Amino acid sequence: MTRFFASVGGMDDDGSGRTPSPLRLPSRPIAKDTPYRRIATEEAWSIPEIPAAQRALLDSPCPPDDPSLRMGGMFAGLDQLQHELCEIGPERIARMDSLGIDRQLLLLTAPGVQVLDPRTGTELAALANDRLAEACRKYPDRFSGLLAFAPQDVDGAVAEIERGMRRLGLNGAVLNSHTRGHYLDEPKFEPILAALEANDAALYIHPTMPPRQMVQPYEYRGMGGALGGFPHEVWVHTMGLILSGAFDRHPGLRLVIGHMGEALPLILYRLDWMQSNADGRPGLRGGQPVVKLRHRISHYFRTNIWITTSGVPWEPAVKFCQQVLGPDRVLYAMDYPYQVDADEVAAYDHMDMPDSDKLMLMQTNAEHVFRLPTVHGARQAPCSSDDAPQPSGLDDTRKDRSG
Ligand code: MN
Repeated sequence: MTRFFASVGGMDDDGSGRTPSPLRLPSRPIAKDTPYRRIATEEAWSIPEIPAAQRALLDSPCPPDDPSLRMGGMFAGLDQLQHELCEIGPERIARMDSLGIDRQLLLLTAPGVQVLDPRTGTELAALANDRLAEACRKYPDRFSGLLAFAPQDVDGAVAEIERGMRRLGLNGAVLNSHTRGHYLDEPKFEPILAALEANDAALYIHPTMPPRQMVQPYEYRGMGGALGGFPHEVWVHTMGLILSGAFDRHPGLRLVIGHMGEALPLILYRLDWMQSNADGRPGLRGGQPVVKLRHRISHYFRTNIWITTSGVPWEPAVKFCQQVLGPDRVLYAMDYPYQVDADEVAAYDHMDMPDSDKLMLMQTNAEHVFRLPTVHGARQAPCSSDDAPQPSGLDDTRKDRSG
């Protein structure tokens, strides 16, 4: 079980004898006077009622054959992990201080409410959203959060998106990818896309285990999680939305994907080249009506999609994505508590890139995409607020998004 957890979550308990990194002290000091704040944008949390409901469903006479539900049940039995996920108060803030994180954007962890029956899914999403909003009100300088919803209950999901954005003041929405093998590009979910767009809620699609139709070859090789199943499953969701014309129908729809865009940016050239494999070709989309996109695939990555760097604090990859997508489209994330390295923020602080790009990466892109309170200048150096580089091109991005 520990071994499986290591493969999906990337924890350090791999038998190598290394100390789990969350307990390690930084090997170099974390700078406190950077001309940017560090906003981590893919930080996991949960409420105890959700793993309890997952366990109850697994223990019921006929549990659904859903690899994500099994993953949830396995996570539910890891006491230390559950404690770290469910604590959104002083303990987490102390960890953030020791890791150099100013603000966490909290996302309900996978698989969340999507593995439950529709009614329970919506009820527990609402409960989680209420508690999240409460923590954000209590610690307005440290926490922001994305609302959860249960797409298996379309009407309930639309209502929860509206409530989370308008009444609770949350900062967007999180979806733990497919729901028992169903994806948001399917026509029945159209009201959800419309609600996200109408409420200006950026949608963060986070990985979960691939659906049962897809998972077997991955599980057989121990790569159902971060080694393959997670990123490839988010590929299906992201590319499915693009190829369905979702962003042509909803030009204001905004999507965020993590883990360095699940590696998609690296092959944008080929995706554009091969676009006609699916675009505008009858009979090549499983019998669905033909869709003819208005733009190349790469256009949507530069107009409707943002990526975060969760789990990939790697300078060449960060800079490549900034170069091909634009520095205004790449956001810092850590992936707490699944992938925590005491030296991570120092690695970002030492990356060799223009100050304005660093400011966008660590702070201002997150403020724009998730409509966070805007903070100017450094944490502690009083003279640097006038010197702080201003992000460029963000106003243009806003124009692009609405047009
Ligand atoms: Mn994550």
